[in-house]
Amino acid sequence: MRHRMNYSLSLFYRGSFRELLLLLFAENLIIALSAVIMGIFLLKTLGEPFNIPDKRERKFFLLTILLNTLLTYFGFVFWSVGIITIKLRFNPGIITDFIFLVLIMDVVTWLIHYILHTKPFFEKIHYLSHANKNLNPASLFVVHPIETLMFGFSWLLVLTLFTFNIYAIISYLVFNITLGVISNLGINHITTRNSFSKIFISPAFRLEHHKSGNTNFGYHTKIWDNVFRTLSASYTNFAKNTL
Ligand SMILES: [Zn+2]
Repeated sequence: MRHRMNYSLSLFYRGSFRELLLLLFAENLIIALSAVIMGIFLLKTLGEPFNIPDKRERKFFLLTILLNTLLTYFGFVFWSVGIITIKLRFNPGIITDFIFLVLIMDVVTWLIHYILHTKPFFEKIHYLSHANKNLNPASLFVVHPIETLMFGFSWLLVLTLFTFNIYAIISYLVFNITLGVISNLGINHITTRNSFSKIFISPAFRLEHHKSGNTNFGYHTKIWDNVFRTLSASYTNFAKNTL
């Protein structure tokens, strides 16, 4: 039974599961704080103010980090027992894996967000993300615990169903959090018409979602809002001008 009491990270570290939980908590805390600092830096660069999260927001921020720690722990256990398989070699397949990850997670998160806006889900869970009309970089983590688990387990399910390269997974997580911070800046600048802003979401796009409440569900791209005609206005269509 001894091997069940310990975990190993590659070949260079062995320790107890309590240590692992602490390590994963530190990892999730550093990621979340780095994301907020990146957001504050972007706001400062743009000459915009940063609204300090209130007590309620700080409470849910910490709760999300704790739940993300638990989800990372589940991911590690699933990988340890072979439920999740990951390719570890550095090769050109990383690029296709990354693109596939963005596309699949884009449709999964769009669908979950759309469901969260249907009646019972919104009233009981998703109202929390919409409680504060003013977005700030910390808003990315001010989420109802059930919503965190819904997104977290869908991420683990995708990792269970497909085998991705570790570098593609890390790149996707960096992309996901960077776009999350940018889209939660809470500013209304109209972005210039470039190919990136035609496809990917922007702060104004997300702000529109918080104003209207039933449009602009995309977390990564505007593809599914275009397909299902849930855009806030015709000029958010990536074929025309963009928000
Ligand atoms: Zn929403």
